[in-house]
Amino acid sequence: KMFNEIQELKGNIRVYCRIRPFLPEQREKQTIVDYIGEDGELVIANPSKPGKDSRRLFKFNKVFGLAATQEEVFSDVQPLIRSVLDGFNVCIFAYGQTGSGKTFTMTGPNGATKEHWGVNYRALNDLFDISQSRRSALAYEMGVQMIEIYNEQVRDLLSSDSSQKKLGILTQLQPNGLAVPDASMQPVNSSSDVMEIMEVGLRNRAVGATALNERSSRSHSVVTINVRGKDLKTGAALLGNLHLVDLAGSERVDRSEVTGDRLKEAQHINKSLSALGDVIFALAQKSTHVPYRNSKLTQVLQSSLGGQAKTLMFVQLNPDVNSFSESLSTLKFAERVS
Ligand code: ADP
Ligand code: MG
Repeated sequence: KMFNEIQELKGNIRVYCRIRPFLPEQREKQTIVDYIGEDGELVIANPSKPGKDSRRLFKFNKVFGLAATQEEVFSDVQPLIRSVLDGFNVCIFAYGQTGSGKTFTMTGPNGATKEHWGVNYRALNDLFDISQSRRSALAYEMGVQMIEIYNEQVRDLLSSDSSQKKLGILTQLQPNGLAVPDASMQPVNSSSDVMEIMEVGLRNRAVGATALNERSSRSHSVVTINVRGKDLKTGAALLGNLHLVDLAGSERVDRSEVTGDRLKEAQHINKSLSALGDVIFALAQKSTHVPYRNSKLTQVLQSSLGGQAKTLMFVQLNPDVNSFSESLSTLKFAERVS
């Protein structure tokens, strides 16, 4: 009850923090994590600069420590995801610097087995299973879109057409909540469809990525699960959309070190992440003006940000001391909206 009331006040925005474990190749295992509380408290400290000013407390709805499994994380987002079947729009996104575990949380590691599946596999599977259950009084149809936003342009990740035309975005919210009407919508009719759709999307996302230009960290990817339900008795229709977003890396790029395309990319990322921050901040403040129009990202997500929609942000952290300042700026971004 308490929790619900708090959520009400915050306009249905929840913030979870997830700290990934050290990787085998990270040799200096000096962590910035000082304390993790059961109640969503996180204290970080800079061990290379001891002193009282280096410790800071942040408060979240929940903190997942280094040992949290994919299953544990999913069990805390499952109710939110299932509410899509009741006609809610839901947006779940992962924010953090490159290497902080955004893709791990949302998709899972490369070639993940079921155990390591991230939120989007699990969400699709779970929604499909539940929607097929015979006890349901509703008949559901599900479809999936997968797009990438790179340099303020939208690319369809499920289209087989390689001569990609740029996709347009509706600036006016439509009743079906879909902002990119021309992106292909793949129907989900079986659990194996889930795997296939995800694989096609991930393969297409990798196209254009070279070792030097790891584009996936500089684009936003958005998986949209569109659910249409029909009450078998009354015939009443219900619509819900789930947006699952793996954001571009939030690291600040040193302007003096980059030029040309790289600078342009950095500016686009900056602009869209701050636009997202501004929208969520406005919603958290219950502001009457919500600036959705300032980026393609916020336009695409509009139906699942604000109104009756439920939003969850994963704040992703690399525990390593060398990432202290990036982690701090990630935490400050989160603090502003929570
Ligand atoms: P990002 O998408 O933010 O750039 P990744 O998800 O690619 O970061 O994570 C960076 C590396 O850390 C990858 O090798 C990934 O498999 C690993 N990793 C991230 N989170 C976890 C985790 N919770 N448990 C184990 N390994 C993780
Ligand atoms: Mg990634």
